Amino acid sequence: MSEKIYWKDPYIKEFDARIEKLRENELILDRTAFYPGGGGQPFDTGRIIAEGKEYHITEERKSGDDVIHIASSNINSEEGAVVKGYIDWRKRYSYMRYHTAIHIISGVIENGYAESFSKGGQIYEDKARIDWDMPMLNRELAEKIISTSNSVVSESHRVLAKNILREEALKIPNLSRTEPGRALIQRLEEVRIVEIEGFDMQADGGTHVSNTKEVGTIKLSKFENKGSHNKRIEFVLV
Ligand SMILES: [Zn+2]
Repeated sequence: MSEKIYWKDPYIKEFDARIEKLRENELILDRTAFYPGGGGQPFDTGRIIAEGKEYHITEERKSGDDVIHIASSNINSEEGAVVKGYIDWRKRYSYMRYHTAIHIISGVIENGYAESFSKGGQIYEDKARIDWDMPMLNRELAEKIISTSNSVVSESHRVLAKNILREEALKIPNLSRTEPGRALIQRLEEVRIVEIEGFDMQADGGTHVSNTKEVGTIKLSKFENKGSHNKRIEFVLV
């Protein structure tokens, strides 16, 4: 099992680890800071130094409890060897800010508008989008939701992650905002929770900033009416 440094401390940019498995350009480490992607947040990219040589890590894949790192070329090393890993921090930090912003916007919608269902979202380096089944949502309301979200950002809430038992998780209303998320909670022994203190709690596997003020200012960049129910909000952080 790969120890998940990105969960313990999402601010760690470089780390040492031991190779557990190596096959050509794919390696599993005993611990990793590379987020393998999921929940709308892309996987990290970066570098690994093995036996004094540098390799680009272009992708990760999850395999059970392990993270498989994929390098751009075959790695000349062996199982048991110690390597150094560096993640592309600018990109990752951007993902963290966007991910926390999505939780804030989704919390604002959740608290204010009962007739709404999240249909998931996608984070990019320079923008993010969220889809909602929310018939009443239009551009004007989207602007209002973003403005309320910016007030939450400026209130400087702490953002904490913790694991809780399934029974406890099932007692918290709307811990997951999507159908697949709710199904997943039923199957897990422990659920990882991301809490924006005093504002919102969601089941989540991603990486987040530690205080809402790090998000910056949220700006609505696009509103799309994708049908009578499905609406899309796209935003940028400045
Ligand atoms: Zn999330």
